[in-house]
Amino acid sequence: MEKPAIEGGTPARREFLKFGNPNIGQEEIDEVVDSLKAGEIAMGRKCLKFEEEFSKYTGAKFAVSLGSCTAALFLSMKAAGIGKGDEVVTTPMTFAATANTIIHAGAKPVFADIDAETWDISPEKIKKKISKKTKAIIPVDYAGLPCDFDEIREIAGQKKLFVIEDAAHAAGAEYKNKKIGSLSDMTCFSFYAVKNLAMGEGGAVTTDNEKWAKKISTLRMHGMDKPAWDRYSSAGYRPYRIVEAGYKANMTDLQAAIGLPQLKKLDLLNSQREKLAKIYEKELDIDGVILQKRKSDRKQVWHFFPILIETEKLRKTRNEFITAMQKENIGVSLHYTALHLEPFYRKTFGYMKNSFPNAEFVSSSVISLPLYPKMAEEDAESVCSAVKKLVEYYKK
Ligand SMILES: *Cc1c(COP(=O)(O)O)cnc(C)c1O
Repeated sequence: MEKPAIEGGTPARREFLKFGNPNIGQEEIDEVVDSLKAGEIAMGRKCLKFEEEFSKYTGAKFAVSLGSCTAALFLSMKAAGIGKGDEVVTTPMTFAATANTIIHAGAKPVFADIDAETWDISPEKIKKKISKKTKAIIPVDYAGLPCDFDEIREIAGQKKLFVIEDAAHAAGAEYKNKKIGSLSDMTCFSFYAVKNLAMGEGGAVTTDNEKWAKKISTLRMHGMDKPAWDRYSSAGYRPYRIVEAGYKANMTDLQAAIGLPQLKKLDLLNSQREKLAKIYEKELDIDGVILQKRKSDRKQVWHFFPILIETEKLRKTRNEFITAMQKENIGVSLHYTALHLEPFYRKTFGYMKNSFPNAEFVSSSVISLPLYPKMAEEDAESVCSAVKKLVEYYKK
């Protein structure tokens, strides 16, 4: 049996494979240089162009460009009038921003467990968490797998709740042939450095509701009723008015300059991700590893590739397995420790172990494998060899 590198064997690959790596080409560089030369480095034409292109791409009537998905989530809740005394139902299997922003808005995050097979929030579990105070549901398309939107929208319709989707992992994904961004009341995207569409930092909200789009546009820039680039146009000087106690949450043209060519390539980049994901699915369908369940009615875009290590069959813990993978020269990550188990959420809301068994099972055994368009198929093969070697070697 082949020895793991951590036991003195040869690593699965010679060079370290990074966990994430943005796909920046000459097009992005040229666009940024163009903005720099024009002196257009704050919010301006390119942000507006990105909004136009992104709303076209997603099929939503409006796209509002922002500084981050965190801002997108927060301002969506503000636009929907969610605040003190309200509850928002979301998944514990997500990044902190999803629930933190509910708290920023003044509301209370209420977790509902995930589905045991897709690892997305379970519609059945959502139903059980709805109270008189519930105002919205925030589903998260975990690892780029769209949630059960028919069921979620039906629940929201019956109970008069908003669906504010966290699609930070899901730019370009589809549910029943509709693009993510066109399904929920508001959909929040992240364009952070390692996301499927990367700008370094950035975010957006898409919606069909003009009132919300306008409100978010005003709130992102101090509550000014007119943006700066409008004030000095040839139409003459038109001073702005402060109509809200707004925030500073806009995108800049430098970010949009990276985002515009990224958006053009998004489908291609996602298809490269899919090719790698298929290698993982084929090679890692082995005893000791559990894969996320695919759904044939939706298109997944794999922001990363999560697998569960069946540690009860192995002589290693999940964290030891991660260390052993790193010694094989493979950058791995963990998405996520279930949020209700993080110190702040335990302390503030009194969450304990065994509150959400499915999320806790995933949380205790999940490892994210690297998956990004710059990876070669041989890179994915080497990741599979490493996983197989470790599972075989450490089997009880
Ligand atoms: C990355 C991420 C966010 C936050 O995105 P930012 O653009 O960094 O604010 C929110 N939710 C999920 C699920 C994420 O993965």
